[in-house]
Amino acid sequence: MNIKYINCKNINIDTNIDNTNSNSNTETNRTTELMNINSEHTLNKVPYIKFKCFEGIDFINYGFSTRLGGTSKGIFSSMNLSFARGDDKNCVSKNFELIADAIGTTPQNMVYAMQTHTTNVLKVGKNECGMGVVRDRDFSDIDGLITNEPGVCLVTSYADCVPLYFIDTKKKCIGLSHAGWRGTVGKIGIETVKMMTQAYDSNPQDIIAFIGPSICIDCYEVSQDVADEFSNAYSKKQMSHILISKSNKKFQLNLHQANKYNLLDAGLKLENIFLTDICTCCNPDLLYSHRASKGQRGGLCGFLEIKE
Ligand SMILES: [Zn+2]
Repeated sequence: MNIKYINCKNINIDTNIDNTNSNSNTETNRTTELMNINSEHTLNKVPYIKFKCFEGIDFINYGFSTRLGGTSKGIFSSMNLSFARGDDKNCVSKNFELIADAIGTTPQNMVYAMQTHTTNVLKVGKNECGMGVVRDRDFSDIDGLITNEPGVCLVTSYADCVPLYFIDTKKKCIGLSHAGWRGTVGKIGIETVKMMTQAYDSNPQDIIAFIGPSICIDCYEVSQDVADEFSNAYSKKQMSHILISKSNKKFQLNLHQANKYNLLDAGLKLENIFLTDICTCCNPDLLYSHRASKGQRGGLCGFLEIKE
C-alpha cells in the first residue's frame, strides 16, 4: 500500500520555548507512528496512529484512526467514525468494531463525546460505557472526557480540530479533549487538567500530554474575528508564536502552539508535552480534513482507555 504520510516541517517550529524535536524529518524523530501497514503480522487489522511519547506506558489502550480499513463508501471512504454526517449507520457501527479490535478494546467499552465546541469536560465511568456508539447518550454538549476506571474507552471526533490526550501515570487516570479554535481559545486543555485534579487528585506535573493529528499552521487560514479572539486570550509574546498576519487581512493560526501554551499554563512540564508531526489537511489520502474536503468527509476518532 502506498500511502502518503508526510510530516509537517511547520510543526514544532517554536524554538523559543521548545528546542526539542525541532527536526522531525527523520524516521527516528517522528512523534507519530502508522500501525498495521506493511506489517505481515497485523495485516488483518485496520491501520491507526500511535504516539511515540506513550511508548512504555503499559496500562493504556489508545490510538487515532485514519480513513483506511473501513467499510464506508464515497466521501466517507472508508473508516468513517461519525454517525452525524449522513453515512450508513451500519457501516459506521462496523467501522467501530474494526477499529476497536485494532486498538484492543470494544465498542461496548466506548463513551463517545457529543461535541459542540464547548469547554465542557465530563467525568465518566462504567455507567456511561457504550454511549454514543452502541446506545444513546444521556449527556450532550461535552467536548472533553476523563476517567480513572479501567475498561472505559474515551472517544472524541475530528477532521482538523485538535485532539488532546492526557495520561497521569501516577494516579492512573486519563483525559481526552476536542479543541477546535473555539475550544482552544476557551482553553479546554486547562479545563481538562483542572477536572483531573479535582476528580482524581492529579498533579499536573505527573501528566503526559499529546497534541494529536490536526490542522497545521500552513493549512489554517483564519479571519480577523478569530484572530481577535486569540489576541484577547493570549499574551503578546505568546501571540507572536500563535498567529502570522498576512497582506490579505487574513492570518495563519497555529492551534498546536496555542494548545501547548494552554497545557503549560495548566501546570504541565514542558518535557511532558508532545506534538503531532502530521497534519490532517496535508494528508488527505490518509486522514479526513474538513478544510481539504470542503466539508465532504467522514470523521476520525481519538481513543484512550485504561486497560481492564
Ligand atoms: Zn497542513
